[in-house]
Amino acid sequence: MLLLVLVFGWFAGYFVNYASDVLPLTRRFSQPACTHCQTTFSWTDYLTLQACRSCGKGRNLRTWLVQILAAASFVYFWLIPSKALGFWLGAIVLIYFGIITVIDLEHRLILHPTSVFGAVLGLMVGTYIYSHKYGLLGGIGQSLLGGIIGFGIMFLLYQLGTLVARYRSRKMQAAGQVDDDEEALGGGDVYLLGVLGLMLGKNFILNALILGVLYGGIVSLIFIIALLMRRRYSSDALMTFIPYGPYFIIAAFYLLFL
Ligand SMILES: [Zn+2]
Repeated sequence: MLLLVLVFGWFAGYFVNYASDVLPLTRRFSQPACTHCQTTFSWTDYLTLQACRSCGKGRNLRTWLVQILAAASFVYFWLIPSKALGFWLGAIVLIYFGIITVIDLEHRLILHPTSVFGAVLGLMVGTYIYSHKYGLLGGIGQSLLGGIIGFGIMFLLYQLGTLVARYRSRKMQAAGQVDDDEEALGGGDVYLLGVLGLMLGKNFILNALILGVLYGGIVSLIFIIALLMRRRYSSDALMTFIPYGPYFIIAAFYLLFL
C-alpha cells in the first residue's frame, strides 16, 4: 500500500510540474515544451524526465525537487493524515498548493484560472471542515465568511501597497532610474487570500494572514540585514519585491496539515 502511495505521489509530482510548465505560458493544458528552446517534448520523454532532444539541456532542478517532495509528502501524509482534511482531500490541496507556489516563485504570478479552481476547492474544503460542527449550511457560511475576510483584508493591503509603489516609482524617477512598474504586493495575492479564507473559514484566516506576514517579515529582515552588511541597503531596499504568496501558502499548509 505504501508503495502505491509513493507511486501516486510521484504522479502528483508530474501534474504539479506539468501545470507549472504550461499554464503560465499558454494558460491551458498544452503539449509541454523545453524552457530553453521551446521544442515540444514527446510525452514519453517528458514523463521519463529526459533532457531536451533539440538543445540537449536537462530538466531543471525544480522538476526533480517537485517529484521527490511530492512522493515524500504523500507517503508522510498517508502515515500521518491531516486531521482537518483526511488523506484524499489533503492530497488535492497539496497538489493545488504545489502548483500555486511554483508558478508564483518562478513567474511572480497567481493565474486567474487557478484562482477560480481554488475558489471551488476552497469552498469544498471549508464546508467539509466546518460542516462537522455547524451542519452543511453553517459550514458553507463559515467558509464564505472566511473567504470574504481574507479577500477584504488583502484588498485593503493591496491598496496600501499601491501607494507604496507610487512613492517608490517617484523615488526611482528622481534618482534618474526607469520606473519598472513593480507592485509592492501582487494583485493575485488578493485572490489567493480569498481562496485560503474559503479553506480555513472565518476562525483561522486571520491566523494564516498573521503567520504569513510574520514568515515573510522574518525572511525580509534577514534579507535587509544581509544588504546592510554588504552596505547596499539605501539603494536596494526599496527596489526589492517580496513575493508574499508562498508565505501565506506555508501558513495555510501549517494550519491545515500540521
Ligand atoms: Zn531545448
